[in-house]
Amino acid sequence: MTEPNHSLDPQDWSNLRAEGHRMLDDMLDYIEKIRERPVWQTIPDEIRSGFRQNLPQQPSDLAQIHQRFMQEVLPYAVGNSHPGFMGWVQGGGTPVGMLAEMLAAGLNANLGGRDQMPIEVEKQVTQWMRELFQFPESASGLFVTGTSIANFIAVLVARTKALGLASRRQGLAASPHKLVAYTSAGAHACVSQAIDMAGIGIDALRLISVDAKFAMNLDELEQRIAADRAAGYTPFLIAGTAGTVDVGAIDDLDALADIAQRHQLWFHIDGAYGALAMLSTSIAPRLKGIERADSIAFDFHKWAQVQYDAGYILVRDGQAHFDTFATPTSYLKRETRGIAAGERWPCDFGPDLSRGFRALKAWFTIQVYGAEQLGQMIAHTCELAQYLKARVEQEPQLELLAPVNLNIVCFRYRPLADAHIELSLDDLNRDIVFALHESGIAAPSTTSVNGVLAIRAALVNHRTTRLDIDRMIDATLRFGDQLLAF
Ligand SMILES: *Cc1c(COP(=O)(O)O)cnc(C)c1O
Repeated sequence: MTEPNHSLDPQDWSNLRAEGHRMLDDMLDYIEKIRERPVWQTIPDEIRSGFRQNLPQQPSDLAQIHQRFMQEVLPYAVGNSHPGFMGWVQGGGTPVGMLAEMLAAGLNANLGGRDQMPIEVEKQVTQWMRELFQFPESASGLFVTGTSIANFIAVLVARTKALGLASRRQGLAASPHKLVAYTSAGAHACVSQAIDMAGIGIDALRLISVDAKFAMNLDELEQRIAADRAAGYTPFLIAGTAGTVDVGAIDDLDALADIAQRHQLWFHIDGAYGALAMLSTSIAPRLKGIERADSIAFDFHKWAQVQYDAGYILVRDGQAHFDTFATPTSYLKRETRGIAAGERWPCDFGPDLSRGFRALKAWFTIQVYGAEQLGQMIAHTCELAQYLKARVEQEPQLELLAPVNLNIVCFRYRPLADAHIELSLDDLNRDIVFALHESGIAAPSTTSVNGVLAIRAALVNHRTTRLDIDRMIDATLRFGDQLLAF
């Protein structure tokens, strides 16, 4: 009697292989010809409702499902691969990163631990990051989903360092210390979320006001630390930002490092998108002080263009990082030989046990393009921001709303003095952004700067050129004029 075949591998490999090659070609075509597409388009109702079906009991043809993806999913993505995408802070991805993802998926490695080369690839990237940020050999690093989780890990390490290892058993409630932390009012919301998830409570995060350049006010920070100490609190963490999400401001990292040192606080940097500007020789000097941080959280999936998701946490004191998460268990016992060999595994440095091979796409990207080219690409997006700033300043109907620190430009449309407008300026600019999105021409986002709504263009995508900036500005003026004419 022959054994029934329950494997999910195909009966006919040649068919699957041919379909696989078509998929690869489809995606290479997609990236090569992305300019010919709209940045984004509204999802038709019938397509959305087609994705509310019951659990399929029977198999479907791979080619047919592939076609569904091509027609019903691919055209309705957010568009961050497109050169006209300037919303939020999102990377554009590269064909090299895409191919690396395919290789990683084929290997299907689990990077929680054990003796395998994929972990050596991740360690290689960690070594590069230590070099880039001038961290010591004893520093540890870990790929995670994104900076939100990387910031969370940093808060946990800082908390455990401040309260001692016993706090892992006893919890915060057993501690007489009332922990408090500091960040700027311009910090990303995930910093306060990290404080929340760590059980410290959002109120314990002191939001320090920002100066004219949107960097943390240092005098206020020092005063707040002193006042908190006097009131019986235990300051434990300063979280600086290298590239705020609203306007791209960089805190004075060197000064923050001094303050942290003087008060013996953990100095963390949220460098989600800005930290990798260290790759650019022209921008790196502006991040001075980053090499003094206790921990840095950042994303390869933003400015470095690595495919989603690829966040990263680098911790100077690798032992403190290990001590925060290491959890001895019999089924994860380390051996001296065989597959279970190795002393410290990635699962000892974060809450994830099963982990995908994120490191491979970062390793491929850095190897294939080289640090220098990546740095030049990053610097170029900052040059484009200066070009956009100049265009805004040239147009009487446009107004710049924040200094252009890096690659983010905040501006708004403002009717000429004699124009009569029914809408508030905020509503008018919001409508302009809706029109831009729905036209498929360009996709900036909005934010609030000093209480007014700003059109916010974050130039992150390596495919963006001056032509894309011109198209965005021309369309902004056109839609602004049209909306006024109503
Ligand atoms: C994007 C961003 C985050 C969040 O990072 P994720 O990778 O989306 O989790 C945090 N801080 C800043 C400054 C960011 O730009």
